[in-house]
Amino acid sequence: MAPSILWFRRDLRLGDHPALHEAIRRSGGEGVVPLFVVDETFLGPSGPTRVEFLIGCLEALSESMGVPLTLRSGDPATVVPALAKEIGARSVLVTGDFAPEGLARDARVASALQDQGAELISMSSPYAVEPGTVRSEKDLPLKVFSAYRRRWEVRGPHVVLGVPDVKWLEAPSDTEYEVMRRLGGTRRPLLFGDLPDGPPATLPQPGENAALAILEEFIDDRVDDYGEGRDILERNGTSGLGPYLRFGCIHPRTVLAASQGAGGGRATFRSEICWREFYADVLFTAPHSVRDALQPQMAGLEWDGGERAEERFRCWARGETGIPLVDAAMRQLLKEGTMHNRARMVSASFLIKHLHLDWRWGARWFMWRLVDGDLASNQQGWQWTAGTGTDAAPFHRIFNPVAQAQRFDPNGAYIHRYVEELAGIPAPDVLQPGGGVGLLHQSSYPAPLVDLKAEREEALRRYAAARDAYRATTT
Ligand SMILES: Cc1cc2nc3c(=O)[nH]c(=O)nc-3n(C[C@H](O)[C@H](O)[C@H](O)COP(=O)(O)OP(=O)(O)OC[C@H]3O[C@@H](n4cnc5c(N)ncnc54)[C@H](O)[C@@H]3O)c2cc1C
Repeated sequence: MAPSILWFRRDLRLGDHPALHEAIRRSGGEGVVPLFVVDETFLGPSGPTRVEFLIGCLEALSESMGVPLTLRSGDPATVVPALAKEIGARSVLVTGDFAPEGLARDARVASALQDQGAELISMSSPYAVEPGTVRSEKDLPLKVFSAYRRRWEVRGPHVVLGVPDVKWLEAPSDTEYEVMRRLGGTRRPLLFGDLPDGPPATLPQPGENAALAILEEFIDDRVDDYGEGRDILERNGTSGLGPYLRFGCIHPRTVLAASQGAGGGRATFRSEICWREFYADVLFTAPHSVRDALQPQMAGLEWDGGERAEERFRCWARGETGIPLVDAAMRQLLKEGTMHNRARMVSASFLIKHLHLDWRWGARWFMWRLVDGDLASNQQGWQWTAGTGTDAAPFHRIFNPVAQAQRFDPNGAYIHRYVEELAGIPAPDVLQPGGGVGLLHQSSYPAPLVDLKAEREEALRRYAAARDAYRATTT
């Protein structure tokens, strides 16, 4: 028997961890080395927010294990086999990664391990149901959420594993967390120009224990209000589990088990977990959708470019568009590294359909700043909003940020919380472009960047042109 290696990636927990159980079994009592690889390929495009939260989660994990994680730096296809050789391990256990780059990396690591007589063993996934396994009757991937959910639902209830006894082994690290801070952000897009950098002042408490405590509090006190509360911008109506699911501090199986039952907002909450699974499935079965339109008929959409477009993008990212709800949303992202779901939809729609800027620009900024930034949910969330993705409704869905504020922030509490210049301006004026046209205030708040009505018309024109051009090529 030989020790095994548990290579942690997006599974930074000890509970409900099938790969950990298998690592123990395969070690035959010799012990398990916990490894984390500091890989520039994955850290470079992550902004400082997620890197900071990730470090916190790794520290929390070490504390729970009672031994330090082994941190090794470099290409996993070199680093992982080298550690296996060093300690004589024949099994390296991982939780499966289903995103395109992760899959390619794992194939390289598996092949390098095989060359030295060792194995990469993948167990489970960051999802309750593995991407690629929910299929239509004709055995095709599903591109419509409701059809996916019907088949996904019957795959539960899921078995939740407890925390096992583990003989953890220490192996020396060759790097430290500070290096992660340096690597996280080396691939900052030029488009961001002078946009503010650095992590937000406040981040959620990292780690598995924090995730479990949040889940318990949410299920005990707030899930019943979730159906309605989740859309009210000023209310703490959602779970806040996003970052923990992102890094696997908690598994969706555990979340689904805790939210069983029909009462209150439970079914709606489980349905939101299903959106996460659906988007991972879409990305797995259509990997091109990371960058390209999922729907070919919208691939030819016309976007603005050039200096003026780039400056408008930065106005949007700084929260200086003169549209109060959009600015509140973007400033929440800067300040807290997160954003309310409805605010994500409204601010994304504004970028795409009122500023006519490419959804990929916005998706990059979100990925840079979001603590729960996740390739599948982010890219598909943006594509949904752009009308290029899984949204069954056509491009006519153009969120009006004033109407959205009137409905979901009627008192302007969310806007007031993030847009300081508008303090003291009451609703309904504060919901209007410019914080209320014609108001006699001395605010330094910017004038609206665009006219909402005119740009809505322009968006409809562009979408119709893209659709017609596609039809012309296919008939
Ligand atoms: C343009 C855009 C970009 C987005 N980018 C991301 C992202 O990078 N990472 C991310 O996790 N979510 C993303 N979302 C989805 C959603 O906004 C967040 O999951 C949610 O706001 C997180 O808050 P919460 O944990 O309190 O959610 P809750 O409402 O408590 O939901 C529980 C969990 O369900 C999942 N979930 C909820 N809504 C969605 C959804 N619409 N799509 C996919 N999963 C969902 C999340 O894992 C969430 O943590 C995006 C949505 C849009 C419109």
